[in-house]
Amino acid sequence: MTDRESRYRTFFENSLDAMFITTPDGRVLEANAAACELFGYTEEELIRIGRKAVIDPQDPRLLPALKERKEKGRFAGELNFRRKDGTIVPVEITSVVSRMANGEERASIIVRDVTGRKRAEEALRRNEAFTRAVMDHLPVGLAVNSVDPAVDFVYMNDNFPKFYRTTREALADPGAFWDAVYEDPDFRERIRKRVLDDCAGHDPERMHWEDVPIARKGEETRYVNARNTPVPGASLMISTVWDVTDRKRAEEEREKLGRKLLQAQRMEAVGTLAGGIAHDFNNALTGIFGFGNLLREQISGNAQAERDLGDILRCAERAATLTRQLLTFARRQAIEAVDLDLNALVAGLEKLIGKAAGERIEVRTRLADGLPAIRGDRGQIEQALMNLCLNARDAMPEGGKLFIGTGIAVLGEEDVARHPYMRAGRHAVLEVTDTGVGMDEGTRERVFDPFFTTKEPDRGTGLGLAVVYGIVKQHNGFIHLYSEPGKGTTLKAYFPAAEPAPDAVSQDLAEEPVRGGTETVLLADDEESVLAVAHRTLKELGYDVLIARDGEEAVGLFRRSRKVDLVVLDVVMPGKGGPEAYREMQRDKPGLKAIFMSGYSIDAVLDRLAPDGGHPFLQKPFAPTMLARKIREVLDAGI
Ligand code: ADP
Ligand code: MG
Repeated sequence: MTDRESRYRTFFENSLDAMFITTPDGRVLEANAAACELFGYTEEELIRIGRKAVIDPQDPRLLPALKERKEKGRFAGELNFRRKDGTIVPVEITSVVSRMANGEERASIIVRDVTGRKRAEEALRRNEAFTRAVMDHLPVGLAVNSVDPAVDFVYMNDNFPKFYRTTREALADPGAFWDAVYEDPDFRERIRKRVLDDCAGHDPERMHWEDVPIARKGEETRYVNARNTPVPGASLMISTVWDVTDRKRAEEEREKLGRKLLQAQRMEAVGTLAGGIAHDFNNALTGIFGFGNLLREQISGNAQAERDLGDILRCAERAATLTRQLLTFARRQAIEAVDLDLNALVAGLEKLIGKAAGERIEVRTRLADGLPAIRGDRGQIEQALMNLCLNARDAMPEGGKLFIGTGIAVLGEEDVARHPYMRAGRHAVLEVTDTGVGMDEGTRERVFDPFFTTKEPDRGTGLGLAVVYGIVKQHNGFIHLYSEPGKGTTLKAYFPAAEPAPDAVSQDLAEEPVRGGTETVLLADDEESVLAVAHRTLKELGYDVLIARDGEEAVGLFRRSRKVDLVVLDVVMPGKGGPEAYREMQRDKPGLKAIFMSGYSIDAVLDRLAPDGGHPFLQKPFAPTMLARKIREVLDAGI
């Protein structure tokens, strides 16, 4: 053996990798110590049995490997081998075929046991699958990304794009985040600036954002909270986001209820105070009248003194009138309850109202058929109606229209749930609507306060609506007020019906189950609460629902969708109102079915609707079931 040969042999013998010298057809010529140790055979056994001692014939990678070696003269890759005791060893092999000087072929095979590495890989793979499963089931969206200058994502879980109402694909490009998440360009720019500003200082205290609206045209706006946490030592952020829409909606409802409750409590307190003062004041007035009349006899013959006393008593008379009104507001006036027909009451006052309104105001009345009687005090309800009409007159100094109407309202438990001041059951409704100046929110909130007035001191006492409020409350009723600056005012007083429904027919109608459908309905209203309730109700009934917050948006959605079967439009919306929007849609789709709705009475909006007159009309407030019934009815009707 030459020096060189002996060096190679030493290598071969001492190698920690198992090594074989074989013939291409599978005979083993030599095997080293590591090979014997790995497979549990002696070298003699391996030479006797050949390659088949160690290969795993079940391994589907084996034949392709042999084929590759035959074709290319070499193979490197992973296979399963087998020990003498039958156990399988995952190995990595390299095998090369060489031609000897005598022309014979030999294959050298180097085998490395990769059991440890395989285990580690498997553990890692499981760990990754586990982490991914945990991440994707977290109730928050989570991503790892750079922020500056562009949001570039390294990782995101399933909820991250979901809560931002977008997709992984849409967020793939660096910086795509802002366009993909925020539709409105102005808002997008503002929030982008703010977030980048907040992140610039790497101050964790500043890197959270609450109640961020994620708006999508035609759908309800959702809200998220988001937080960024810098990764120490890397220019990366962990971005988390979670949906707070339910909490936000609940808070809004609570806030609204809270405000109503507060207002009711304040009215109670003011009522108690006013009632107390009025009571004492009445006693004082009794004294003034009494002593005044006594004095009259003593000064008889003194013309100047008689005139002065006359003035004193007239002032006292005015004070007594105010006091009576305060007592009415405070519900300290006794009422004489009889069965009353509101229709007859309105008809009886029509002439007087016409006179009070003056020539420039056109008075119309609309009296409902089958109106239930109420238990009430005729004088008080007449006074309430007169007060409302006088306010309507004052609101129309340039003239206008005054509508007086009666109606029937059947309120269900769901109405009461939404408006706790309501009562379930049948009601007779008295309504007064004007086309006057209307009220802003500040005025609306205070109109029922005694002495609240926006009029000149000699024109208003601020007691008119306080008295109406007191009267309606004393009759166990409640009031709805709709008014916006420049858009007139509708005030409705609801009085509980005196007895249960007289005719079975209307009862049956009220109880007929609501039917749904699969048509596409476009809803437009600027009031979020109306939209939210209507949207939910119709979706639950199976309809495809699109929603818009003004006429402009409604027309846009209508054109884009091309499959709207029916539009339900609020008459008065900021910018483009319902009728105007409808006219535009009708140009695209003549005969398009429509329902208009409004808090104002139909008479008040009739003028706006005039060119399209004859469309079904829904008076707010309405129960969700009323809307659903109306929609089915209109969809089922022929064109
Ligand atoms: P007064 O009429 O003496 O001012 P009221 O209690 O009747 O007192 O009304 C209070 C305020 O409410 C009015 O000053 C006015 O600002 C507002 N208001 C009442 N009714 C209407 C109406 N129909 N249109 C516009 N504003 C109204
Ligand atoms: Mg008044």
